Amino acid sequence: MRANPNIVVTGTPGVGKTTHCETLAERTGLRHLSVNQVVKDKGCHEGWDEEYQSWIVDEDKLLDALEDEVATGGFIIDWHACDLFPERWVDLVVVLRVDTSTLYDRLKARKYPEKKLQENLDSEIMDVLLQEARDSYDENIVVELTSNTTDEMDSNVDRIEAWIKQWKKDNPSGGDNDDGTN
Ligand code: ADP
Ligand code: MG
Repeated sequence: MRANPNIVVTGTPGVGKTTHCETLAERTGLRHLSVNQVVKDKGCHEGWDEEYQSWIVDEDKLLDALEDEVATGGFIIDWHACDLFPERWVDLVVVLRVDTSTLYDRLKARKYPEKKLQENLDSEIMDVLLQEARDSYDENIVVELTSNTTDEMDSNVDRIEAWIKQWKKDNPSGGDNDDGTN
């Protein structure tokens, strides 16, 4: 039994995952888990893809690296995929969405190579991450939120914070240890 929930924040690169996770971590005390960082730091990859300017992720290694810690709960997981994590680890999946023109501007500002930029725009237009979330988890734990403006982000963070409070009420841990280890 976890004392704190695990929340996956997912979506196409540029939707605002990291910004949401950092704000949520500050506000709630849950830990921001940047899966990108774990891939890099713990070498969960098979090298660097020059064309896409990203790591070629080794999912088995990544799962092994995350398993023990994440199972204890209390993580806000920041990753542009979500089918990797077993259902038993995950209490809420937030899929962030943005308008195509906004995403274009954000990815352009990041100087994404043209092919990578176009593929990510297509992925957003075709609801790829939303579909992946719905295919991987119970529909009741998947929420889709828009992240075009800072106002939308503020309201998303408020909603998720309220959800965490409710989760804690519904899942009393029976201990006063709030680091998820009891
Ligand atoms: P991701 O982690 O999904 O790739 P980031 O959190 O790094 O996305 O956000 C990408 C860029 O978009 C950043 O410059 C960030 O400041 C901006 N951004 C993210 N979410 C919003 C939002 N809701 N409103 C305005 N700007 C945003
Ligand atoms: Mg990010």
